[in-house]
Amino acid sequence: MRLQFCGGARTVTGSNYLLDTGKGRLLVDCGLFQGSKDLEERNYKGFDYDPKEIDWVLLTHAHIDHSGLLPRFCRLGFHGDILATKATVDLTNILLPDSGYIHERETEWENKKRRKKGLFEVSPLYTAEDAKLVEKHMVGVEYDETIQLNRYIRARFRDAGHILGSAMIELWVTDGRKEIQFVFSGDIGRKRMPILRDRTDIPAADVLLIESTYGTRLHEDQETKTSLLARIVNQTMDRGGKLVIPAFSVGRTQEVLYFLNQLLKEKKIPKTPVFLDSPLAISATEIFRAHPECYDEEALSLFQAGDSPLDFPGLVVTREVEDSKRINEMKGPAIIISASGMCNAGRIKHHLRHNLPKQQSTVLFVGFQAEGTLGRRIRDGASSVRIFDDEIEIKCNVHSIGAFSAHADRDELLEWYDGFEKVPERVFVVHGDEDVSVRFGEILSEHRKGVQVEVPRPNQSVTLEMPRTTTVAFAESHPADSMRSDLAVQERQLQKRCRGVQTAVRKMDEEIVRWAESTESLDEMLDGFAVVADDALREMCQSVEDALRSLGMTLSKLLADHPECDEQVRAKALEIFFGSSKQLKDAMELLRSQLVSELDAVGE
Ligand SMILES: [Zn+2]
Ligand SMILES: [Zn+2]
Repeated sequence: MRLQFCGGARTVTGSNYLLDTGKGRLLVDCGLFQGSKDLEERNYKGFDYDPKEIDWVLLTHAHIDHSGLLPRFCRLGFHGDILATKATVDLTNILLPDSGYIHERETEWENKKRRKKGLFEVSPLYTAEDAKLVEKHMVGVEYDETIQLNRYIRARFRDAGHILGSAMIELWVTDGRKEIQFVFSGDIGRKRMPILRDRTDIPAADVLLIESTYGTRLHEDQETKTSLLARIVNQTMDRGGKLVIPAFSVGRTQEVLYFLNQLLKEKKIPKTPVFLDSPLAISATEIFRAHPECYDEEALSLFQAGDSPLDFPGLVVTREVEDSKRINEMKGPAIIISASGMCNAGRIKHHLRHNLPKQQSTVLFVGFQAEGTLGRRIRDGASSVRIFDDEIEIKCNVHSIGAFSAHADRDELLEWYDGFEKVPERVFVVHGDEDVSVRFGEILSEHRKGVQVEVPRPNQSVTLEMPRTTTVAFAESHPADSMRSDLAVQERQLQKRCRGVQTAVRKMDEEIVRWAESTESLDEMLDGFAVVADDALREMCQSVEDALRSLGMTLSKLLADHPECDEQVRAKALEIFFGSSKQLKDAMELLRSQLVSELDAVGE
């Protein structure tokens, strides 16, 4: 069995681990490298493996440094499933197209310069269109549910308490007699973060991959964090300046909103306009509101009482570019939350250009700033920085509050590591700057003696042996187990088809709206509508037919292989079929209600 560290080794970004079990190949995460030019060039280098030969991707969470290369990966011919929690699926479905759009824009900008210099043009890493490919592969799973990938591999997603939907992944691989347990920590959250539940303690592992972003640092405690935030808000408002907070669209933005809401309620900060200026963060905030199943008790009770923890009077969301520009023309104090979190792209750059030279303004960092990013240079005290080809002087106040980090600090990582009752035989320290990972590796070795702790190098691969002690029953000798795993695979396929139908419905809806807007005569509109509807329906029927055919094939194969399981197989197959029928019915119902409201609108 071979484990390769294709990314996220001796660097924070680009998480990408390949596990070749001999019984199937899987990736954990497929993230984008972010930071210095050298690092970002690695995104273009191509993968260390052929995406066509990978069977599954298990995605720990939606952050781009874990998911951001999936569009390229899928475009290169991956045809398996990408498994992630349901909230992660929703978040990824908005984050990746946005990332594709950013790549397109940046390439346009770059090509403009290249044309002037007579250089050849370059193409984007991937486009928004490529990003849409990923959606088709996504399969949403529940926390704590055991998923049989095939007869030899099973996985379980556990809450990592890092961002909405974030997970640690437990993975078991068996060769029939022995079994080995992997734990991929993903990004580990802090305890007592607002909205989210605390990360899960995992009792056992043979092989552990542990993140080390803050492996050598300690964060301020949660109380200090809110009082620091209050002080920085008050000082900036007193000076009449603007407080600019670069924040990741997912996670940090919602946390900052949550605390601003709290401080306002407690009257610890004055009423000030708060602008949430990032279309993506606005969409992400909507997804937060749609997934109360991920909330902790406090957020859940607020939610059930009808009080959204992410909404307050004075909060202005700006989707349109024009509204965004107007924020900087506005006189007087304000709070501006905008993306990207490391200031590499997005609207935040405009806000920085306006506010960095102003003594009365403040830039407040609440997230990790990777080496080589614009955010890191500002935070480290540069006297000027380049933004859009202009040299901008920095005269404003610069602060950072580490406690907003969605990552556990050194002590919290050790506390989680202590949760293992069965000490892992091998530990690999990943997802950290090189010096931090190396130091954290030493800390882990001192902390628990006798564990083999390694800090893998980029692209390094290691061979893993099955543990000598564990013995499990041979899967193939249990027909019921293998039957269950075959049917589980089938169930996921069917689920995916149902989503295909939902996508077709959505596409049809968009087309209809487009038709309605661009067509003047009613006859023409009806003709167009008929064509669109016909196409969509055909696509949907095809999807369902394919799914049923493959379910039927699996069924007859299972019955032939295991005649003794006849009853169970039939019962399970019917269960899967009815489950999927319900999803299809829901999709049709959605279509019907959309149609009705569309027609009502035309009637008015
Ligand atoms: Zn993350
Ligand atoms: Zn990460």
